[in-house]
Amino acid sequence: MNTLPPLRTGKPRTEHGHIRPFEGVEIPFGLVEGAEPGPLLLVTAGVHGSEYCSIESAARLMRMSPEEIRGTLLVLPILNVQGFRKRSIYVMPEDGKNLNRMFPGKPDGTTSERLAHWLVTEVYPQADAYLDLHGGDLDESLAPFTLYPKDCEVSKNLATVFGLPVAVAAGGEGYTINAAYRVGVPSVLPEVSGNGLWGEDTVGEMMAGIRRVMHYLGMVDEPVLPPPQVPAYVTMWVPTAPADGLWYPAKDLSEIVCVDDVLGEIRDVFGTVLATVRSEKEGFVLYRLTSLSVNKGEALLGVGTPLSE
Ligand SMILES: [Zn+2]
Repeated sequence: MNTLPPLRTGKPRTEHGHIRPFEGVEIPFGLVEGAEPGPLLLVTAGVHGSEYCSIESAARLMRMSPEEIRGTLLVLPILNVQGFRKRSIYVMPEDGKNLNRMFPGKPDGTTSERLAHWLVTEVYPQADAYLDLHGGDLDESLAPFTLYPKDCEVSKNLATVFGLPVAVAAGGEGYTINAAYRVGVPSVLPEVSGNGLWGEDTVGEMMAGIRRVMHYLGMVDEPVLPPPQVPAYVTMWVPTAPADGLWYPAKDLSEIVCVDDVLGEIRDVFGTVLATVRSEKEGFVLYRLTSLSVNKGEALLGVGTPLSE
């Protein structure tokens, strides 16, 4: 089919299939509608095709039964299907672009721009809330956190309810959740696991957060596990590689970072130090590049810096 199926029919049902938003792209979807009316929750994953914990969580979510929910759950578990098949990092293989930098997209652009445009114009406006599931990519390790558009209080509440240890206020444009916020949809982007790893513990952590959000929205009844903590609210600073080379990180995940601390070095293959990367911020490590190979301009790590409020 070329368009989404009807999302609110008033009849309990499950529908699985593929949507072809435009020529050359076919993405799976799952729709679960409960008998009672309620909100429409949109859940996407696989914007980055090798973030497997998020994709497996979305795939499991599609198997909820209509009896379990009020309202409608729309799940797009693998938006970047070619990236998933080819195990690519960051980008859509069709155009080599990072879909999560392309929003709000263009109707006549490249594949990722067109997909972003389709989401913003056809899908996001139908949702009452939106979760875009991520994790560290194949080359990144990560301690769980949830991003939310920094000026949106409702999204911040969703990030709090989701229950991961850190909530990151995200600015900037080009991202799924900021684009959804622009069209009036509260949205968060949870990140769990990394390095292509997934298992019952990490998928369970993601699923528990999704269920807490559904409970908060009135879509499911108890039981839900309460959030294990109130998150630390931070912004994220992301230093990028000043040179091509080999990356030697100096800080572990969650380790405290002070201003001027050495975060790592880039060396050439003969051991000569090409660049020493120092912190401009105080905070702690949210995620880091684990790949030995690094290219100029790539993100090296994320430092969570406490919000001053
Ligand atoms: Zn991602």
